[in-house]
Amino acid sequence: MTAERIDATQRAMRRRGIDALLVSIGSDLPYLTGYRAFPLERITALVLPVDGEPALFVPELEAPRVDTWVEVHPWAETDDPFELMTAVLPETGTIAVGDQMWASFLIAFQTRLTSASFVDAEPLMASLRVIKEAEEIAALRDAAHGVDRVADQLGNVRFSGRTEREVSHIVTELTLAAGHDSVSFAIVASGPNGASPHHEATDRTILPGEAIVVDFGGRVRGYGSDTTRMYCVGSSPDGFEDAYAVLLAAQKAAVAAVRPGVTAESIDAAARTIISEAGYGAFFIHRTGHGIGLDAHEQPYLVEGNEQLIESGMAFSIEPGMYLPGRWGMRIEDIVVATEGGVDRLNRSSRAIRFVD
Ligand code: ZN
Ligand code: ZN
Ligand code: ZN
Repeated sequence: MTAERIDATQRAMRRRGIDALLVSIGSDLPYLTGYRAFPLERITALVLPVDGEPALFVPELEAPRVDTWVEVHPWAETDDPFELMTAVLPETGTIAVGDQMWASFLIAFQTRLTSASFVDAEPLMASLRVIKEAEEIAALRDAAHGVDRVADQLGNVRFSGRTEREVSHIVTELTLAAGHDSVSFAIVASGPNGASPHHEATDRTILPGEAIVVDFGGRVRGYGSDTTRMYCVGSSPDGFEDAYAVLLAAQKAAVAAVRPGVTAESIDAAARTIISEAGYGAFFIHRTGHGIGLDAHEQPYLVEGNEQLIESGMAFSIEPGMYLPGRWGMRIEDIVVATEGGVDRLNRSSRAIRFVD
């Protein structure tokens, strides 16, 4: 699988005039080699020339963890890894650098290869990673089903009297129990905290009558889940359910707008128009969605100004939200895949407000 990806990458490099690709930590490395490196001060990097074989340079002590068909070059504690890699990089020409390489590493290469030009590898890698293979979609689907089960289970969990942190811990435990390999985040934002979209769970105690935004996700076989559902303790705040009906309609309209050939921004507009016409436009303070795969946030981004065309095989979130400072927040988030026939919604759990104790 990754051998075919390397071939496709080299073809794309040739089209873009890139002579070598250099990727270290982040998701490009597992995409190309099957190996995910720790973010360490000892560099791990794949060197892929446009013609020729890939070479993976790893610190000697990490080598036992590496399971890949790519040729591995362990470097010892007393070696200079930059000298070793520079020897197989082109002296002149264009080197595309993975978007998550540490600045200090890039500077080390730039200091040694003063005649080469360094460019961002993100457009190249995104052009490959943005279209998901069947196996990738299967992993995304399994991940979505896992968090769907958790969203339902949370409907039977007592929120009242617990802190956000306690509920966040429950979300994490349930998600692991539902088959996730890891949990990346578990946002529990109660009452006025809901107005901060990326709120981090605190020691605030959840009270009756409050609305709670629960947005969580993790990884299954390397691929991400990301879903948001709303919970209210006993009853909902004044006006909340009317606003929620608007949000639900907006989320539905955006999902329905997904099909190959439409622009990313048109999907954003489908949600935003409904929210704006209901008078909440000023409170929808983020884009409608982001791509998902080996990274929790990747291309395509559903945002005004992005004229990128949606293609079959793209996977992304649809997550409009409304945030009233000092009062409450609300968001509904599903992962969808664009298909030849239109759209496949991976998250299937109910989007209705769940009333909890
Ligand atoms: Zn987010
Ligand atoms: Zn989310
Ligand atoms: Zn998201």
